[in-house]
Amino acid sequence: MRIGVIREEGLNEYRVALIPEVVKTLIGKGIEVIVESQAGVHAFHNDEDYTAVGAVIAPSRQSLFQEVDLIATVQGIASADLSHLRPGQIVVGFLNPLGDPRCIQQLAERGVTALAVELVPRTSRAQSMDALSSQASIAGYKAVLLAAAALPKYVPMLTTAAGTIRPAKVVVLGAGVAGLQAIATARRLGATVEAYDIRPAVREEVQSLGAHFIDVTLNEETTAVGGYAKEISEAAKEHARAILTQHIAAADVVITTAQVPGRKAPVLVTEAMVSQMRPGSVVVDLASEQGGNCEGSEAGKDVRLHGVLIMGPLNLPSTVAVHASQSYAKNLLNLIKLLIPKSEVVLDFGDDIFDQCCLTHGGEIRNQRVRDLVAQLTNV
Ligand code: NAD
Repeated sequence: MRIGVIREEGLNEYRVALIPEVVKTLIGKGIEVIVESQAGVHAFHNDEDYTAVGAVIAPSRQSLFQEVDLIATVQGIASADLSHLRPGQIVVGFLNPLGDPRCIQQLAERGVTALAVELVPRTSRAQSMDALSSQASIAGYKAVLLAAAALPKYVPMLTTAAGTIRPAKVVVLGAGVAGLQAIATARRLGATVEAYDIRPAVREEVQSLGAHFIDVTLNEETTAVGGYAKEISEAAKEHARAILTQHIAAADVVITTAQVPGRKAPVLVTEAMVSQMRPGSVVVDLASEQGGNCEGSEAGKDVRLHGVLIMGPLNLPSTVAVHASQSYAKNLLNLIKLLIPKSEVVLDFGDDIFDQCCLTHGGEIRNQRVRDLVAQLTNV
């Protein structure tokens, strides 16, 4: 059994799929690991760190693709590499199934067994493999640091000889994994924090972090299968906005993290709301790539609107490449252990984790939503 670790080619992608410590564990299980030269360099793991634990550095990227049975990636397979794949080869990574169905179709056509970490179920047993969570937590943490650095104010309360500084007020919209870490980070910096989520079940988690939960009673179901948020009606959105407006107007920092998988992100902060914020305040929109939770936000850009700075950072986990790679590599290790319980690969479709995250196998796309998206592409 041979596992390959490729150098990530994505723009501003500094993470590596497997770090030397994890490679050592795999080699201890009798698995050979081949690493592309410089694969870990941006996460501060050089080639010697990998060879020191027993890995082999591949003479070229192409030879790595030829020699390995399983390719461990962060951002999946770039289109230029698709032709290097062969039937039966296994690919593991963030494959962006709902955002890039064309690539998934090509993986299926090449007969690849593709495991999408995004599709690992959000269950207790799968927690140690949940890369969405490990990376979202980093995004939530970093969003607060970005906001604090851009805010022309102190965040904590300070009592000085020159008077008392009141703590900054931070509002977090969406209290999933990223939002909860944003709340915890803002609290550690000394901010007063308020949070809102469409799923009332998160109230206690928000409160346990020392934040105030903003009450918005919606008279409709807001939770979908798997605990994810459900898209709500226009009337419900209006009602939520009316209540949130007062809280946002008083905020120094707003962090937005709300997403509905596979759909455009909901707009939670309208331009009218932004216009009521104090000039100099900061919004960090973690959903900017999915269309944005804040009107006016642009993916990958900082925008000034009515004197408010709206940041739309991309791929924040990559900016914390050392710990993002460490936690991602541990997630992959646990997934690989499920796949290779002893020394051979076992494709156990009776196991719910494997069944759900195995996106392509034997020439087929195994996920109905992705099949529908591919069919739409074909019909256009
Ligand atoms: P996400 O990134 O899909 O969305 C972020 C948050 O935004 C969610 O809490 C969601 O409810 C909220 N949101 C969506 N639309 C909104 C709107 N219109 N207004 C306000 N908030 C809105 O979420 P996630 O962090 O990936 O978590 C998704 C689900 O998975 C949650 O139920 C979470 O508790 C669950 N989860 C379970 C486990 C586990 O049990 N192992 C681990 C991680 C997450």
